[in-house]
Amino acid sequence: MVVGRVTGRGLKPLNRRAEARRAHFTARRALRLCTVKSALQVTSRIQPETPPQTGGDDKAGLGAYFQAMQLVGSADLKNFDRVNTWIFDLDNTLYPAECNLFAQVDQRMGSFIAEYLGVSLEEARRVQKDYYYRYGTTLAGLMAEHKLPPERFLDYVHDIDLAAVPALPELGAVIESLPGHKYIFTNGSRRHAERVAEKLGVLHHFRDIFDIVSGDYIPKPSAEAYDRFLKAHGVNAPSSAMFEDIPHNLEAPHALGMSTVLVHSTYCDHPSQKQIAEWHVLPPHVHHITADLLAFLQDTLKEISAKADD
Ligand SMILES: [Mg+2]
Repeated sequence: MVVGRVTGRGLKPLNRRAEARRAHFTARRALRLCTVKSALQVTSRIQPETPPQTGGDDKAGLGAYFQAMQLVGSADLKNFDRVNTWIFDLDNTLYPAECNLFAQVDQRMGSFIAEYLGVSLEEARRVQKDYYYRYGTTLAGLMAEHKLPPERFLDYVHDIDLAAVPALPELGAVIESLPGHKYIFTNGSRRHAERVAEKLGVLHHFRDIFDIVSGDYIPKPSAEAYDRFLKAHGVNAPSSAMFEDIPHNLEAPHALGMSTVLVHSTYCDHPSQKQIAEWHVLPPHVHHITADLLAFLQDTLKEISAKADD
């Protein structure tokens, strides 16, 4: 069988190596720009024999992209059968980034800062991102540099419309089936996490929510934030798994011996997210990567059950 690429002049014989290299760089550029659909479009060229099955489903396509780029977790790290505590970040991890909820929070942070500091929206935006990158959260920077009372900020930025948040009964079912306790660990407020998790239909599956107030306003990625969580709930780090959309926030969990899962988000904002496009292998603090939390958890449950049957 002649394998080739259709051009304006007919079927051009395919130089697989050159095609793969071209696709590789195109996909990396697409991912760097966080245009998942663009990454998906070139996925089939990276793996011409195994194109995405869904014909347009971003998550499955991106999963294929991670496979093609060999950005898959090590089999040595598949120790979820030892996990009895499942910890989930909230924003863009537990709910799909595609519903664009965090964009509302992001926009309200900017308008809050503009009024609080008496600056333009443009300057407020610069301050917001500067503090976010340097302090872990915008709030931590405002508290450190401007003595901001945190409650006022949290109430304002989380006063958002949840209409775009879908009910996810399948996600609820799989979370319920995971063996052990489940927690939400967020740099946002408890009220925000409760509202969103309620709308998703998963709130009642969680034992507790560890929010920024619970951690005395010390945010992820600080190791102290994780220490406080572990102590507050008597959790043994090596028996727990952390799910996050920001790679940087998985460094401390990895150092503490937790299993780590990066839930790739189409909301690409933090510098450590933008670096994903440069990865050739997973960094040590990211044990697994997925574009589809539900599918990942379903597969994990199957593996746990299979090991239990051995
Ligand atoms: Mg998040």
